[in-house]
Amino acid sequence: MRNSFEGCIIPEHPYATALNWIEESAKQMDLSTVILDRLKSMALFAEVAIPVEMDDGSIRNFTGYRAQHNNALGPFKGGIRYHPQTTPEKVKTLAVLMTLKCALMGLPFGGAKGAVLCDPFELSLREKERLSRGYIRALAPLLGPQVDIPGPDMGTDARVMAWMADEYSMLMGKNFSNATTGKPIELGGSLGRKEATSLGLICAAREAVRLTGKPFEKTRVVIQGCGNVGSGAAKLFYEGGCTVVAVCDITGAIYNHGGIDIPALLAHVEETGFIEGFSGGQPLSKDEVLTIDCDLLMPAALENQITAANAAAIKASIVVEAANGPTTAEGGEILKEKGVLLVPDILANSGGVTVSYFEWVQNNEGFYWDLNTINGRLKTMMAQTFQAVHRFAGEKCGGDLRQAAYCYAIGRIARAMQFRGSL
Ligand code: NAD
Repeated sequence: MRNSFEGCIIPEHPYATALNWIEESAKQMDLSTVILDRLKSMALFAEVAIPVEMDDGSIRNFTGYRAQHNNALGPFKGGIRYHPQTTPEKVKTLAVLMTLKCALMGLPFGGAKGAVLCDPFELSLREKERLSRGYIRALAPLLGPQVDIPGPDMGTDARVMAWMADEYSMLMGKNFSNATTGKPIELGGSLGRKEATSLGLICAAREAVRLTGKPFEKTRVVIQGCGNVGSGAAKLFYEGGCTVVAVCDITGAIYNHGGIDIPALLAHVEETGFIEGFSGGQPLSKDEVLTIDCDLLMPAALENQITAANAAAIKASIVVEAANGPTTAEGGEILKEKGVLLVPDILANSGGVTVSYFEWVQNNEGFYWDLNTINGRLKTMMAQTFQAVHRFAGEKCGGDLRQAAYCYAIGRIARAMQFRGSL
């Protein structure tokens, strides 16, 4: 598996773009400027110092962030990212997207995001544990199962979530398994959480393909990114009978006109960490992958990948945004002019937070559901949300699914804010 963030530089995140989309949608919905101003600001942004004793006995100071965007619909909810290049702006953007995703899916959560400036691959297990516990100690007054519930994100995992829930429980003097989500099953994690984002993406892709009238099994797919999300989606497309013609990662792309043997590719990636060196197709540079001839393109790597520079050359008729913010505003406009059906990130990749919600519900109930129940509920919620957004897009947004998803989500948040009063 990957053991460094080297070469994985994340481009600047389009905070302004997200706020712009909120503004456009608010205009469309005729919302008051008071509500719009609230949606364009953070409820709270905290920066904390986290002193950590390193294994050599020295003390190193890390910087942590928590952005809490809006909690009109319920407690703040959002992942914690360990990455050396995270900026406050990126954290705030991701918090905004979380508010929108939760609202869109009808979850009783607001949106938040957190980060620690560090390279987790350079930390020993014990250093990472001390850092994770330190993050919770620094921010505990702002967290809790009815206040703000962290989950995993880039650079963090189930183990980090276990340390964080444990630290919160120790500080409070009683068990709070519901203080974080994405935990190991043994500590109250949910079945299906690991695959949830990919399963949600496939549901969204199925709904999008259905609109074209073509059978799902005839879909030719290209995926950018082969990490948690991209590899899970590749497996499910393959199992669903689709032909995955190209997949890329940071090391390059593999193309096979007749379809890639996905189980063989994933076994290779599992063994070596990367796509490079896989022999089941023709190697290409990773930059060629977005414009390969296919029906459905899934960017599942980074922000800002479909831009004014390459959107015109994209041949897919459907783009399903697995990554957060993979299409710039200009890129999106070009796709719209070409008649490409774009399924936006806040709709397509919300399977993960939906099953995080299931995990929190199960923790609150102390009763755990089987995998069929979890996956069945996720599939139903994804299909219903897609269909509602599609209907709304047809009636009010000229078929634009992004605008419809933003309007739909913002409408729910605005109504909750109005019921809470004085707006
Ligand atoms: P990951 O780190 O596991 O995988 C990222 C993949 O992208 C890797 O295969 C990497 O090699 C590849 N990549 C990096 N830079 C690239 C480049 N320049 N060109 C091509 N490929 C490149 O991350 P992930 O968890 O799979 O998340 C991917 C995206 O999906 C992110 O935008 C993330 O925010 C979003 N997302 C993830 C989840 C989740 O549950 N993991 C949920 C919602 C959204």
